[in-house]
Amino acid sequence: MSTEPSPPPSATAINLPADPLTGELNRQNSNNNPEVKKLKIEDLNWDHSFVRELPGDPLNDIVSREVLHACYSRVSPSAEVDNPQLVVWSESVADILDLDPKEFERSDFPHLFSGASPLKGGLSYAQCYGGHQFGVWAGQLGDGRAITLGELLNSKNQRWEIQLKGAGKTPYSRFADGLAVLRSSIREFLCSEAMNSLGIPSTRALSLVMTGKLVSRDMFYDGNPKDEPGAIVCRVAQSFLRFGSFQIHAKRGKEDLAIVRTLADYTIKHHFPHIESMSKSDGLSFSTGEGSSDVVDLTSNKYAAWLVEVAERTASLIARWQGVGFTHGVLNTDNMSILGLTIDYGPFGFLDAFDPSFTPNTTDIPGRRYCFAEQPDIGSWNIGQFALALSTAQLISKQELNYAMERYGSKFMDEYQAIMTKKVGLPKYNKELIGELLNNMAVDKVDYTNFFRLLSSVRADSNVPDEKLLVPLKASLLDIGKSRKDAWTSWVKRYRDEISTSGISDEERKASMNSVNPKYILRNYLCQSAIDMAEQGDFEEVRRLLKVMERPFDEQPGMERYARLPPAWAYRPGVCMLSCSS
Ligand code: AMP
Ligand code: MG
Repeated sequence: MSTEPSPPPSATAINLPADPLTGELNRQNSNNNPEVKKLKIEDLNWDHSFVRELPGDPLNDIVSREVLHACYSRVSPSAEVDNPQLVVWSESVADILDLDPKEFERSDFPHLFSGASPLKGGLSYAQCYGGHQFGVWAGQLGDGRAITLGELLNSKNQRWEIQLKGAGKTPYSRFADGLAVLRSSIREFLCSEAMNSLGIPSTRALSLVMTGKLVSRDMFYDGNPKDEPGAIVCRVAQSFLRFGSFQIHAKRGKEDLAIVRTLADYTIKHHFPHIESMSKSDGLSFSTGEGSSDVVDLTSNKYAAWLVEVAERTASLIARWQGVGFTHGVLNTDNMSILGLTIDYGPFGFLDAFDPSFTPNTTDIPGRRYCFAEQPDIGSWNIGQFALALSTAQLISKQELNYAMERYGSKFMDEYQAIMTKKVGLPKYNKELIGELLNNMAVDKVDYTNFFRLLSSVRADSNVPDEKLLVPLKASLLDIGKSRKDAWTSWVKRYRDEISTSGISDEERKASMNSVNPKYILRNYLCQSAIDMAEQGDFEEVRRLLKVMERPFDEQPGMERYARLPPAWAYRPGVCMLSCSS
């Protein structure tokens, strides 16, 4: 398997206007604006556009069934609680919602954010969606255990959907219980916040409540179910719409095709408003290069312009994942956010030792469809399925579909190369040098996080003798023999030549590299240690880990143990690899 993603199909590079959301989505951190009034839970500003503007299920029971001609079913949280406890919370998410952080101290907070007590002003529902699972159309899936409480408008007039994951059964629960366990909830909470701090678009997490009830899970699917503590994460995103939210209606055909258009109109209006207001003067027409009759004009079809933006956001997201070694273990189309966010943290993992064939999902081992190296192609495949849904509903032409696919490829390659170039601290992309580096890293199973951090200490000093060249990288190049040492020395020599001609000083390069190469990454074994303690009733490690992961690029003296290589036990199933059982 190649260590570098294959080049995209050639495409005419035309840039859409800068995405006005990107800054927000990339790092939605606290603005700490003292002018903004911080609100009590009861004073939050609700606005339920999803329920108001889209067709809903006329039935309101939670019997598992096919829900036709509807985007959602009204349903209330029903998970039982017994002395629920707040495990961890995010002040920066509270800040986005204008929620007063003192509200976390309220004794009724765990009841409100487990769904045991209703939120004043909320209007809860479960979303209907479908999806391709492991490349096969799986039909209706839907929110089987996530229940949206409603949408909040903050002081900046931003819309934020608030959702409880593990809040009980819905019509989409099929044979499952609608619940979630503490271990998977801790992983989702910590990783969504860690991703945001890495500058990678993600759904967020406001709070994690342990319900006080037990939930039975067969973690290894080996017929040995175990009782585990139940938990509920309050997830927050501008929208939880997925590719599968559109696919389900296109697949059902006939009258449901109109719902694809209604839902697309809704999504563009609320989440891509710059596309709705796009005019001819924005100059977005382009030629596919196949003759003048093949001119596609994105200003004449908002759905095509929207598809291109979704494709580009997805490409950019997956390029960023590659940059930090993140592998989403279940890249089914129901787990692909329409906003280009990382969504649905089940089995996921950051690479420790560099291994392009790494998959964090035990179910994925036979085919490794979702392994690290395949993720960019899977993103493309998923965009293709989303585009087909729009095409089935006659919202886009074949030509527009092809163009969006090309744009995915070119955007991915542009972003990937820019990220890798920054990671090694060079002024421009060097395919050979980076390709050889990744090959070397794969051969010697070099840690993907720590290596790049150490690389920033290599100096552009040609007086350093050959035998001293690997000294800065020593901690990452453990147990390698003479021939491998020679291979690395030769690479470092070439790298040193490149950096010495770059005109960038050692200090400047180090600072720039350290701003993209995290020191702290949410390794699975760190999560596991925090989970083990939380399951014993001690939440301190979860809270500490959140604080460390909120500043992944900072040195954080005293916290160096969180940057250590994984211990041997980290490689056992259940830690570095997980099933979907959560
Ligand atoms: P996931 O693999 O988490 O993306 O889930 C795939 C589908 O299974 C979605 O429709 C989920 O809502 C549903 N699902 C997963 N776990 C449960 C559960 N414990 N109870 C009900 N539905 C679930
Ligand atoms: Mg999912």
